[in-house]
Amino acid sequence: KKKTIRGTYTAAIDQGTTSSRFIIFDKEGQPQSSHQVEFPQIYPHAGWVEHDPFDLLKSVQTCIARACEQFVDRGFCLEDIKAIGITNQRETTVVWDTNTGKPLYNAVVWPDTRTSRLVHELKRREGADGLLERCGLPLSTYPSSVKLMWLIKHIPSVKQAYSQGRLSFGTVDTWLLYNLTGGIDGGKYVTDPTNASRTMFCNIRTLEYDDYLLDWFGVKGVNLPKIVPSSDPDEYGFMAEGPLKGTKIAGCLGDQSAALVGQCAFSPGMAKNTYGTGCFLLYNTGTEPVISENGLLSTVAYAFKGHKPMYALEGSIAVAGSAVKFLRDNLGLIKHSHEIGDLAATVKNTGGVIFVTAFSGLFAPYWIDDARGTICTPPLPPHALSTTNLFPRSHTVVGMTQYTTKSHIARATIEAVCYQTRAILDAMEKDSGTTLTSLCVDGGMSNSDICMQIQADIVGIEVDRPQMRETTALGAAIAAGFAVDVWKEFHELKGINREGRTTFIPHTEVSEREAKFARWTKAVERCKGWVD
Ligand code: ADP
Repeated sequence: KKKTIRGTYTAAIDQGTTSSRFIIFDKEGQPQSSHQVEFPQIYPHAGWVEHDPFDLLKSVQTCIARACEQFVDRGFCLEDIKAIGITNQRETTVVWDTNTGKPLYNAVVWPDTRTSRLVHELKRREGADGLLERCGLPLSTYPSSVKLMWLIKHIPSVKQAYSQGRLSFGTVDTWLLYNLTGGIDGGKYVTDPTNASRTMFCNIRTLEYDDYLLDWFGVKGVNLPKIVPSSDPDEYGFMAEGPLKGTKIAGCLGDQSAALVGQCAFSPGMAKNTYGTGCFLLYNTGTEPVISENGLLSTVAYAFKGHKPMYALEGSIAVAGSAVKFLRDNLGLIKHSHEIGDLAATVKNTGGVIFVTAFSGLFAPYWIDDARGTICTPPLPPHALSTTNLFPRSHTVVGMTQYTTKSHIARATIEAVCYQTRAILDAMEKDSGTTLTSLCVDGGMSNSDICMQIQADIVGIEVDRPQMRETTALGAAIAAGFAVDVWKEFHELKGINREGRTTFIPHTEVSEREAKFARWTKAVERCKGWVD
């Protein structure tokens, strides 16, 4: 008979942009069982990105079932899972009928740009300039506010539900929590401050809904989830069904906040950069929000019950791993994401190619809504193709020279996210007055040694990568574990995930770095104005 292993465990639901995971961690932060499921991406029109809310829910339920089976098979006991935390893709907007609990539309996913025109109009409206100061976010296609406005305006069933007072809004955390705790049969209708701070409805200082903001976006009358602490033993309720029926949910963090917690960046001045579908750099600024003057966002890092809320400056990059997927699925340059590193390594540099991967416009620190993907190649020799002579001064073509190979494109794709990280670090230095000496990294693209070496070479500081890279899930498990006293003090987490880290040391000279970054900055100028 198999030996039974007893201990203390916390689990995390990690609902990301491309996949969902459920991971059961031991007290040392090591995963003991996990399962991951991809779900369909829905692209109804160019620039639109949707998820079916039930696909998200089902993928989570499948992950829970499989990971629990595996956990039990390995000799562990489900009753030793003390609490569950949840972490999720942020800003993605779900609307459902308050009376039936049924979605009224697909979830509008965070990089979706259908609101470009609406945002353009809103930017001219009185009070637009004051929004950043109040909620920490600039007006763009990115936050939930404009997505909800768009849905009310364009989808008749949403408009009708709104006018009848039965329109429920939620980010993905809220949608999942509501359903996992019982749905219309008493499901919890809550969110946490890290998720609420991505809607533009929440005041960044009070961490409560702000009437001025709700009015400004014209969404007063929409049902909104109660904002409760990110780590709390009482507010999230219990699993209503499945193998973990009756287990307490006790933590909730937006994915980027969760990664910051999972990297144990609890002190002001600490930062992390997560390379997933997009790439997000969060810098802990302590108990006060810092409103950026350089294109960064001000966001809630985490707000645990019994502790002061902590804030972060954030640099958001819309496209990172999704550009790797683009090379794989749209251009067919690679078969698997992990091949991009090897392909890029077959050349020493990009041969002068710069690829501004602005598929969803450019986010931080640029905020150019009308930018689109642009490939800039170096000056061409006089005998080059005649069409290129249309651009004699700028040397900019949306296309390639005869010299350019797929290896150059692969390398330029990696460099795009690394240059944007550099631009964000420069902005962060200006806003905070301090310089980072090392960058903690995680997320799908950080699995590639070559990507991380290119990053170190471009920013000129060390890049520090943990061995266990499920830091987003770990952060959610930590939030849940804190609420039920698995851990009581932050210092108890000091040793968590410290072993086996890899450091990438920059091998470039300052002059080389500056010259290359200047070329990137020029290329960004050329990617503007592609939307009518
Ligand atoms: P998310 O949580 O946003 O769904 P993940 O952190 O799971 O994202 O990262 C997935 C992304 O990372 C995918 O877009 C994939 O293309 C990219 N990726 C995964 N492994 C690698 C690798 N070895 N090299 C480069 N990119 C990778």
